[in-house]
This record gives sequence, C-alpha cells and structure tokens, in this order.
Amino acid sequence: MANAEEGVAIVGSCNVDLFYYVDSFPKSGETMFAKTYEEHFGGKGANQALQTIKLSSSPEKVIFVGCVGDDKNGRSIINNFKEQGVNNPEKHIHVVDATSGIASITVDSQGCNQIILVPGANFKVLPEHVDASFEDIKKCKVLVCQNEIPFATTQHALKRAHESGLITIYNPAPFVKVENLSEVLKYVSVFVPNEVEAAELVNKDEIKNTEDAKQIAQELHSLGAKTVIITLGGNGVMALHNEEIVHVPVEKVEKVVDTTGAGDSFVGSLSYFLSCGFEMIQAIKLSNFSASVSVQGEGTHRSYPDRACLEKHKK
Ligand code: ATP
Repeated sequence: MANAEEGVAIVGSCNVDLFYYVDSFPKSGETMFAKTYEEHFGGKGANQALQTIKLSSSPEKVIFVGCVGDDKNGRSIINNFKEQGVNNPEKHIHVVDATSGIASITVDSQGCNQIILVPGANFKVLPEHVDASFEDIKKCKVLVCQNEIPFATTQHALKRAHESGLITIYNPAPFVKVENLSEVLKYVSVFVPNEVEAAELVNKDEIKNTEDAKQIAQELHSLGAKTVIITLGGNGVMALHNEEIVHVPVEKVEKVVDTTGAGDSFVGSLSYFLSCGFEMIQAIKLSNFSASVSVQGEGTHRSYPDRACLEKHKK
C-alpha cells in the first residue's frame, strides 16, 4: 500500500542535447545538410529527475544536484528545472569553471545514432557539492545516482545517503570499470543495471536468456546489492528482491518508436514509486509501464508519461 509522496534526490549529469536528423551519416571530410535540427535537455541524471517530476504531484520535493558552466546552456538548464518546479535549482545546481555538458547526436533515417558527448561541468560534480545540499537530501526518502559524474562523488553520495537511512538507487550507466564493486554496493539498496552493464560488471560476454539474467542477478547480489533489478528491454526486468528472483515482464506495446532513455524513464519512475511507499514488485510493475510508454514516442523525457497517463493506466 502506498503512502504520501516523499522526497527524491538525484545526483547526476545534465546536458543540452543537439539532435541532427540526416539521411545517412557523413563520411570523413564530407559536409551535408541536416533534414531537421532539435535541441532538448538531456543527461541521465536530468532525464531521471524529469521523469520523477512528471509523475510527482509535489515537484518541490525533488532535488537535483549537479553542475553547469557559466554559459547560455547552463542558464537554460537551471531555468528549465525552475519551470518544472524542482526544489531550489539555484542552490543545488552549481555553476563551475567549465562548459555545460553538451551532446551532439546525429540520427540517420534508420534511427541509428552517433553521439559525441562533452561531459564538461558534469565531470566537476564533487563530493562537496553533495555535502552542500545534504541538509535537504537527508529529508528525502530516496537518492539516485548514475555514472556520468565522477565515481568518487557517486560513491560519496550513496554512502552518506545510506548512512542517513535513505533508499539508495544506483544505475551504473554508462558502464564504467570499477575496481572494487562491493565497496560501493554495500551502500546500495537497489542496483539497476541494464543487461549489457550487468554482464560487463561480472565479466560475462552477454545475457542470452532469463537463466543468464538470474545467475548474474545472484552474482551482483552476492557482491552486496540488496535488491538487484536488471532491465531487459522488451522483456521487462529480472528482479532479485528479499532473496527471491522474479521475472517481471512488460506488456507488449503496439509500436516501438524510439527506445532512447527508456532506462532513465524506468529508474526515474522507480524512484518516484518507492518514494510513495509502494512495495518493490508493485513499484517495478508501474515503472515497467512508464518505460513502455516512453518507447512509444520520440526522444527521451518528451515521451515520458505524466500523472494523468499513469492515472488512466491504474483505472
Ligand atoms: P536506454 O539506454 O535506451 O535508456 P536501457 O538499455 O538502459 O535503455 P532497457 O533495458 O532497454 O534500458 O529498457 C528499460 C525498460 O524500458 C525495460 O525494462 C522496459 O520496462 C522498457 N522497455 C524497453 N524496451 C521496451 C520495449 N520494446 N517494449 C516495452 N517496454 C520496453
């Protein structure tokens, strides 16, 4: 049974994404006209925060901690968070001496993409930025981290939040080789890799079937993660929770349009549902629904479901 919504803190990356839609990728030395061009807010941390906010009736309970540069993109990122009603972005998003994170994404007519990512200010998110926001973070119920900021900061945020009794969610995306995974997993309540990251983390080639997913979930659990949720694209998730392994399938969708950011929709939704007090498997089912809505539209948070969409689903 769910209770009232409590706070969610996201410590992570924020970018401006520049999308160039072309017929085919340019060859080396070639200049070509794009068919269309779009600019959107992105970065895994920001995407997850925007999914949480879209579902929330109290966006002021959502805290986003990150860094931007002293430039036009940085100001737009902060303004966008202000417009979404997130908790005091001017306090929690720090302006540092670097360019704001920016991604150049070229998409061809087949929907394949090539991405150049400038991490910029995201690589300057430091443990002291987490400390500066911690009085507010510790009032939250859930803290979420990913891998687009320095690992030392992620580890610091997870440790402090764990010690303050928050539910900590760690989405290890994109994959980063970690020397001693157990050192960080001991601070993680819910570990959410996708199938590629999960296999890489335990030095396996790939997950070929649900048996492989079960075995890898066990391995990650034995390394210290209390609950492990491996996302399996159109196959939903494999979850190890309370020592039980459950495959939670996702409903088939009519037409998959764009799966970019589906993982962020899942993680942002899970944070929200756990902050409302939903039991884990119920929270996973609802997050599967959210992420399945996101694959039916273009882009990342543009296609994420909002409260109205969720209410319709629950009826
Ligand atoms: P991305 O990197 O594109 O953000 P990801 O690889 O991190 O995604 P996936 O495992 O592909 O994450 O997908 C996350 C969740 O999104 C799945 O667990 C599922 O709930 C939903 N999902 C993904 N693909 C589909 C699909 N084809 N049909 C329905 N739901 C999907």
